[in-house]
Amino acid sequence: MAVASGVVAQPLFRAPVGTRDLLPPESARRRRLVAVFADLAERTGFGLLESPIFEDLGVFQRLGADNEVVTKELFEFFDKGDPPRHLALRPELTASVCRAFAEHRPTQPWKIWYSGPQFRYERPQAGRYRQFDQVGVETLGTDDPHADVEVIGLGLRFYEALGMKQVRLLINSLGDATSRPAYDAALAAYLRSRRDELSEQSQITLERNPLRVLDSKREQDQPVIAEAPVMADFLSGESAEHFVAVRAGLDSLDAAYEVSPRLVRGLDYYTRTTFEFVADALDTAQNAVGGGGRYDGLVEDLGGPATPGIGFALGVDRILLACDAEGTFAAAPAPVEVFVVDTAGGQSAAVLCDRLRQAGLGVDRAFDGRSMKAQMKRADRSGAAVAVIIGPDEQAEGAVTVRDMRPGGGQRQVASDDVVSAVTEILAEEA
Ligand code: AMP
Repeated sequence: MAVASGVVAQPLFRAPVGTRDLLPPESARRRRLVAVFADLAERTGFGLLESPIFEDLGVFQRLGADNEVVTKELFEFFDKGDPPRHLALRPELTASVCRAFAEHRPTQPWKIWYSGPQFRYERPQAGRYRQFDQVGVETLGTDDPHADVEVIGLGLRFYEALGMKQVRLLINSLGDATSRPAYDAALAAYLRSRRDELSEQSQITLERNPLRVLDSKREQDQPVIAEAPVMADFLSGESAEHFVAVRAGLDSLDAAYEVSPRLVRGLDYYTRTTFEFVADALDTAQNAVGGGGRYDGLVEDLGGPATPGIGFALGVDRILLACDAEGTFAAAPAPVEVFVVDTAGGQSAAVLCDRLRQAGLGVDRAFDGRSMKAQMKRADRSGAAVAVIIGPDEQAEGAVTVRDMRPGGGQRQVASDDVVSAVTEILAEEA
């Protein structure tokens, strides 16, 4: 747009709808959250898998033809190949983990953790974004109920490690290939008998995949869902036994859970154990802070050998919202311990900062030859416990002034070669 002066105003770009810039200190808080998760996961024997952000579209199509994540929410594109490849940004990571398993055939059980952004073209709202972060784990190659317990227990311990107290665990069993058809038939018959009471969307879903109707969050559907037949009455002996063992395992860990007989999950591939973590501190509709379950057919669908698997994905964005609501795991500013104030041109500060940083300390400084007063203000704001001050007098003597920034803290002059030990001494006193 041309303005009066003849200067062309540049358009002001914003982050795309449904995405956000994560600025400090919030970005540092996320990094800490992932570090807490990584530590727990690695101490539980999970190794990190870093897979591509995009995959062949087909990888995600295996998540289910009736699934909105696949039918409506994928960010799909063609690359510049000849012929072009049809690709998609990942909407979740379980499919990628199974694809990687089928590709590399690692030793089993394969215990993998991951973290990173996922992409879904959803309608943005509080706690729901088009780019969001997840952390998660998957254990492939065993259907031992203890593996389910290990995975679910890890999730619970993670929320605890963040200081969250208001997370509820809901669990259910979706049965296996032998129990599912009878249940699906009974459910379909029931839902059809009350078809007129369902929302328009659920009436469509009913014809495609009755189980998915249970996942509807629409108000209108709730009375019908509340009286639907439950899977528990249809479980095969084997599935029932598996579910009993999972619950006994959780009991032995003193893990509180609620059996939620109509809990199904968004993606179609789940069998047997399914679970969800709900944050009661969030009063929005988006209060699921994580979920997962067993998927005993997905690796095979991706061209690998029949391989059972269990895992979960936790939503980082929502967990942080829930932490805010609970007043835990607060954002902390960058850990600056020392602030160097240089009123002698700035070159000495460069050398002192380098020396102190090499000694492992968190160090910041001012730029642009600011006045003493302005630099001391910065030092105050930085939260540093110690200020190292160098002016023309100190510089002439090869010295620096080291000031304890606590109220009433003193200061002394030391040889600039002794700056590290002088600073460390004050920090040790504070600790
Ligand atoms: P799902 O794979 O849909 O079960 O998602 C697992 C977790 O990821 C959910 O419990 C949410 O915490 C989080 N999540 C899913 N979709 C979104 C989204 N669009 N925005 C933010 N978080 C999400």
